[in-house]
Amino acid sequence: MYQDIAPKFFNNQYDAKKTPAPDSPVFCFRGKDVLVAENGSFFEYPKASSWKDTENFRYLFSVDDKDYFLAPEGMLPEFTGQEGDFETKEGEPEKTDAPAFAFRQVQQLYRYRMEPMEDVLAAFTAFQLRNWYVNNAYCGRCGKPTHHHPALRALQCDCCGNLIFPKIAPAIMTAVIDGDRVLVTKYANRAYDYISLVAGFNEAGESLEATVAREVKEEVGLDVKNIRYYGSQPWGIADNLMVGYFCELDGDPDSIELDKTELSESLWLTRDDIPEDINDYTMAYEMLLKFKHGLV
Ligand SMILES: [Zn+2]
Repeated sequence: MYQDIAPKFFNNQYDAKKTPAPDSPVFCFRGKDVLVAENGSFFEYPKASSWKDTENFRYLFSVDDKDYFLAPEGMLPEFTGQEGDFETKEGEPEKTDAPAFAFRQVQQLYRYRMEPMEDVLAAFTAFQLRNWYVNNAYCGRCGKPTHHHPALRALQCDCCGNLIFPKIAPAIMTAVIDGDRVLVTKYANRAYDYISLVAGFNEAGESLEATVAREVKEEVGLDVKNIRYYGSQPWGIADNLMVGYFCELDGDPDSIELDKTELSESLWLTRDDIPEDINDYTMAYEMLLKFKHGLV
């Protein structure tokens, strides 16, 4: 999973005193895209030295001694002219002699296994924080502008005292096991076509185990038992913490009733059916590979 970067260390403690060094990587977002230069599977962010004025750049987090910053919305680096100079790249990255900066959908960074891996984790986390800053520029209680807390990663409203922290939405992902087989799903209405596991948001007043049982019932109509924790993965592009569970089928494996609004297909894969070369930084694939190799 992309957060497994040891021995490197991801430090997300806010530090208001940090300022960009010339070679500090900077996040510059446009909608759901982030500005990167690609060369084959490798990519990099623009450096702070690409801007004349970095006074309003926001410190986000660090990996070892590398500090990452967020540029204010719409403030592009000054090595190019207008926003129109940047295209948005789609599809598999190519190896080029002179990599140029272009916008790339944040989500595509993990799908194409871009490297370095910690910069994929950084992109997802930066995207989450940037959305939180943008969406909370005004107080949700009284409507007045907020400003950054001097010491904490929090926004505060002087008018009513509202203190706003980043909110993380827990969601589950579960591998339903039936003997030597595991249930995988394909989502409807998505641009890409690849397998995943049953997944869904935790609802108010619900334990994560109850979410697992409810989501499996809703998505494929099956009952499950022996729900057990596997691990978790931060998934900043949707403000999620994905929590992974294995569980076992309780009943008839052929009684699947697919929720066609969410899923286009579900199928049982044997351990041998699971492809070996799936390695896209997601917990879903890590769980499938653990099952394939009999490690769970
Ligand atoms: Zn307020």
